[in-house]
Amino acid sequence: MNFEQIKALDSQYVLQTYGRNPVAIDHGKGATLWDTEGKEYIDFTSGIGVCSLGYANEKWAKAIYDQAMKVGHISNLYYTEPYAALAAKLVPASGMAAAFFGNSGAEANEGMIKTARKYSFDKYGQGRATIITLKNSFHGRTITTLKATGQDHFHEFFFPFTEGFRYADANDMDSLLAQSGDDVCAVMMELIQGEGGVNPLNKDYVQAVAKLCAEKDWLLLIDEVQTGIGRTGSLFAFQQFDIQPDVVSFAKGIAGGLPFGGFLTNEKCRKVLGAGDHGSTFGGNPMAAAAAGVVMDAMTPAFFQEVKEKGEYLRAGIAALNSPYVSGIRGMGLMIGAGIQGMTHKELCAKLRDAGLLTLTAGKDTLRLLPPLVITKEEIDKGLAIMAQVMK
Ligand SMILES: *Cc1c(COP(=O)(O)O)cnc(C)c1O
Repeated sequence: MNFEQIKALDSQYVLQTYGRNPVAIDHGKGATLWDTEGKEYIDFTSGIGVCSLGYANEKWAKAIYDQAMKVGHISNLYYTEPYAALAAKLVPASGMAAAFFGNSGAEANEGMIKTARKYSFDKYGQGRATIITLKNSFHGRTITTLKATGQDHFHEFFFPFTEGFRYADANDMDSLLAQSGDDVCAVMMELIQGEGGVNPLNKDYVQAVAKLCAEKDWLLLIDEVQTGIGRTGSLFAFQQFDIQPDVVSFAKGIAGGLPFGGFLTNEKCRKVLGAGDHGSTFGGNPMAAAAAGVVMDAMTPAFFQEVKEKGEYLRAGIAALNSPYVSGIRGMGLMIGAGIQGMTHKELCAKLRDAGLLTLTAGKDTLRLLPPLVITKEEIDKGLAIMAQVMK
């Protein structure tokens, strides 16, 4: 099918919930994609931070195929090797104690929220279930994680939302203390607010929040759905903030393109959810877990170093454009945001796409770049050349 045929089917048969680009992607290799009309694109999106090992990675594809030919799915009422082996990779590398596997970021965050509320209920009884989150955050699209998201426009239409969330300004301890109370059981935050505009939190602030949580026996819930699994140049971003969360969620990049998410708890929280308290039909599916195992095998210190170097190279390259449209560059590793002025971020994103570079937007005015972690310098240079042409 060509683009027009695909678009016609989509328009007729699919709920139109996405503001899609007028492009149908057909295939890819590394960090390069081709559409159905044969046009080439450099990819600075990796889905949305998902395809960490790029497109058509052979080890990844083979692991999925091999597992599919053994057993593609079996319920979590049975043990499987990929599930256990993946947990045994994630737990020591993160300094956490135990893993739970689901299918998405929102589901991972739901599990963190359930852990916090049950931890508090078991120890203190009812009435201590409020979770403080940050303004401008994003935690997912279920009824609960929408409410956990600290942006008013996500709190429309779908009433009644789950109760028990209050919002504090990021990087502001006084604002957090003002939301404090006997009803609080946890603080939940991203370390770099992704959808909100690629806004990294200050290290001092994050450490002060961690200290406050420890003092008050609030659980520290870190949402690493976007920042986790190598994206910022370490397995988890929290490892560069020198904190240890009580629970950390992950999803997007973990399985390199298959739906997968989950959370890790520390020793204190590992018994909070027991048999029957939480579960997922597809969670930890053997094919997806085998794919995630391949992603985890790539997560070496040398790989993290490359992610940091490529991130710096890309940021320096954007700065060197001296583009009148760029007002500031933020981020860590290969999670990069550039403030855009003089046209909207969406207009710029569309112009770059037409010129052969795929990018994302975030917040009100941010161009967001989340390239595959395996992107080559050559591909980065091609992307920068397209940016130069469009943004000079
Ligand atoms: C994408 C994202 C989510 C939601 O993940 P889904 O897989 O779309 O449910 C939650 N938190 C953060 C920080 C995200 O970036």
